[in-house]
Amino acid sequence: MHPHIWYPFTQAKTSPPPLKVKSARGIWLELEDGRKIMDCISSWWVNIHGHSHPKIAEAIYRQAQELEQVIFAGFTHQPAETLAEKLVKQLPEGLNRVFFSDNGSTAVEVGLKMAYQYWVNLSQQRQKFIAFEGAYHGDTFGAMSVGSRSIFSQVFSNMLFEVDFSPFPETYIGDTSIEEKEEVILTRLKEKLNQNPQEYAGIIIEPLVQGAGGMRMCRVEFLRKLQQLVEQFDTLLIFDEVMTGFGRTGDWFSCIKSQVTPDIICLSKGITGGFLPLSVTICSEKIYDTFYSDDPIKTLYHGHSYTANPLGCAAALASLELMVENQSKFSSMEAKHLQHFEILQDNSKIEKLRVTGTIAAMNIVNKQESGYLNQVGLQIREKALEKGLLLRPLGNVLYIMPPYCITDEELSMVYRGIYEILKSI
Ligand SMILES: *Cc1c(COP(=O)(O)O)cnc(C)c1O
Repeated sequence: MHPHIWYPFTQAKTSPPPLKVKSARGIWLELEDGRKIMDCISSWWVNIHGHSHPKIAEAIYRQAQELEQVIFAGFTHQPAETLAEKLVKQLPEGLNRVFFSDNGSTAVEVGLKMAYQYWVNLSQQRQKFIAFEGAYHGDTFGAMSVGSRSIFSQVFSNMLFEVDFSPFPETYIGDTSIEEKEEVILTRLKEKLNQNPQEYAGIIIEPLVQGAGGMRMCRVEFLRKLQQLVEQFDTLLIFDEVMTGFGRTGDWFSCIKSQVTPDIICLSKGITGGFLPLSVTICSEKIYDTFYSDDPIKTLYHGHSYTANPLGCAAALASLELMVENQSKFSSMEAKHLQHFEILQDNSKIEKLRVTGTIAAMNIVNKQESGYLNQVGLQIREKALEKGLLLRPLGNVLYIMPPYCITDEELSMVYRGIYEILKSI
């Protein structure tokens, strides 16, 4: 470990030293010692077009020579305006107002604040959010509060605000009881909302795929029924698409794929193609209207030093163009994953094979308790590196989430690698 760096999510005492990356291009990382590693997880899910894409690099360079940063209150700039317009065009009708920040956790914080203050601005006190078991929404206090209680937030549990958690209807290939599971969950949610409809500020969900909680997937049908409940009981729906946005689920966004329009959507990770930190929280006009007032207390008092950084916006605009050019790549990846599943299907070491768009996942069967601390993940991580693959299982959940530029041959290499790793554990 470096004597002056404190690494994230890392127990320095027990972790192997980090690998030093010298450069990266496309799907390949090149280490200082010359080794080449295939980035099968898009470097924590951000790098949708592969590394060092010249088009995004060029856009940042050009923007840096014009305007690198400017205060975003009382001043505005073209990259932010163009980006806001383009994002609104890609999203379902009605998601209209774009609030900028610079990472996924703050995009969620802003979404929670918007929802909470929406009711305050309407002179209602709504104290609670509904969230889902297994959810991960980030590491700041609000985001931790709506996240499933886990080792990540355990130390701070007394500091978190109270949230009602609902089970998440996770499904997988060959799941025969999913309709029943959804019915039970929806009925319980309905009862909860019915008991005290004025209590809930909103429902927050990672639509279609829960990321850090273990790549748990649900059906579009569930999201549609959830939205009906939200409408029936007049609360707000927040989609945390920080991970699922920008092509990950095979369509531009989960809300497009499921044809469900939330009141608020949070986007980050893939937004700049993995070049710069940026995020947005986008809400409906209905919400924005309650903040639009002569009364100063109705203002959304939130902002960050680097809000709407022009370099980030320029990177995001270039990334959006690449999304348009490469739409067929992210929309065709689900079928490719499914083809490769054939060699894994009858493998007794795995269960719950599942895929949504570009994301494929499976659970490793072993005797240890499932969850982030399951040691099989570490074992797989090491074996993968020996084969030149960057895989980073979430406990016993092994997943692949490659950049969209991965070739058919490279994807075959990943699956062959996984097949061999499974044989050796
Ligand atoms: C990663 C993630 C976040 C947090 O984003 P950061 O940029 O790491 O703060 C929030 N929600 C979801 C669904 C995520 O996957």
